[in-house]
Amino acid sequence: MKSVPYTKPSITNLEVKYAKDAAKNGWGKNCYDYIYKFEKIFKRHLNTRYSISTSSCTGALHMGMHALGISRGDEVILADTNWVATAAPIIHLGAKPIYVDILPDTWCIDPDKIENAITKKTKAIIAVHLYGNLCDMDKILKIGKKYNIPIIEDSAEALGSIYKGRRAGSMGIFGTFSFHGTKTVTTGEGGMFVTNNKKLYEKVLTLSNHGRSKKQKKQFWPEFAGFKYKISNIQAAIGYAQMKRIKILLKRKREIFNFYFQQLKKLPLKMNPEYKQTVNGFWMPTVVVNKNVKFDRDNLMNELKKNKIDARVFFFPLNLTPIGGKKAFNNKYVSEEIFLRSFNLPSHHNISKKDMLNIIRILKEHIV
Ligand SMILES: *Cc1c(COP(=O)(O)O)cnc(C)c1O
Repeated sequence: MKSVPYTKPSITNLEVKYAKDAAKNGWGKNCYDYIYKFEKIFKRHLNTRYSISTSSCTGALHMGMHALGISRGDEVILADTNWVATAAPIIHLGAKPIYVDILPDTWCIDPDKIENAITKKTKAIIAVHLYGNLCDMDKILKIGKKYNIPIIEDSAEALGSIYKGRRAGSMGIFGTFSFHGTKTVTTGEGGMFVTNNKKLYEKVLTLSNHGRSKKQKKQFWPEFAGFKYKISNIQAAIGYAQMKRIKILLKRKREIFNFYFQQLKKLPLKMNPEYKQTVNGFWMPTVVVNKNVKFDRDNLMNELKKNKIDARVFFFPLNLTPIGGKKAFNNKYVSEEIFLRSFNLPSHHNISKKDMLNIIRILKEHIV
């Protein structure tokens, strides 16, 4: 029996050709060629003024928040349901993540609960577009304006998602992306920082270069202690090829989602929503089984595993993990109530119809 991975990059001859070229020729004065190409094609796609490639999305978040001056004693608001990568840089800056409950339909931060969490110490709000689903940006941006708090968009999972004509990642003070091997576009490991704010761009550019300003003529001269979160030219070559194929990559994600959705829509469950005036990038087809349905997620996970199908559980509420510090469940919170009936389906670009039908068959046996 062939195994079905939950994600796997789509690598064609184009990626191989550029990576080979970078490995052969991308040294000396050519050592940034693919990096600049990748940054340029990416910001064009997103329609932002500036882009800085990084070694990861986590690194991009770390530098961006450092550049905003977030430090010891500050607070940063984000959704409780999240990958830890969004919270870790907050902690490393000495600030405190404040976890806010999620909405039951988009599984993103509940804007109506943000205001309650704002204090004098709040220095930023991170809107994470979970699994491709978009945050309610109108409301969140309005709150940011009202309290003069910057909105950051962690768009690691939302390449291809569009909110009222604007791409995810381009609406806040800055946006970040991940090109980890599981993401829609990959460079193996890698990330991107994007912004329309010139001052912030210049600050992060200097930070990303060990604190050395582009304007400084002296060599080896740091203005302040910076970071080393750069991407390599070889990785950028792969990313450049992926971005040239972005339409195909995004189209395939839609096809996969729609296939699952059509087959599963009669079952008592919800999947990633796509509301009016938005486009969902559908990074990961996700199922949330309705409340009060007899369903045991771990049984289903085991059955899929037996069939060599690599499905994934929904993110834990970070509050309940060791980095959150909260001890007990409270079923009043959507984030704590939802995850035991939720999971992600395999969605790599080359998944076959036969494999998807097999997955659907198993789901139908378990969700009744
Ligand atoms: C994948 C992911 C990250 C981390 O990306 P890296 O490139 O691995 O650092 C951050 N935030 C979210 C929401 C993610 O899904």
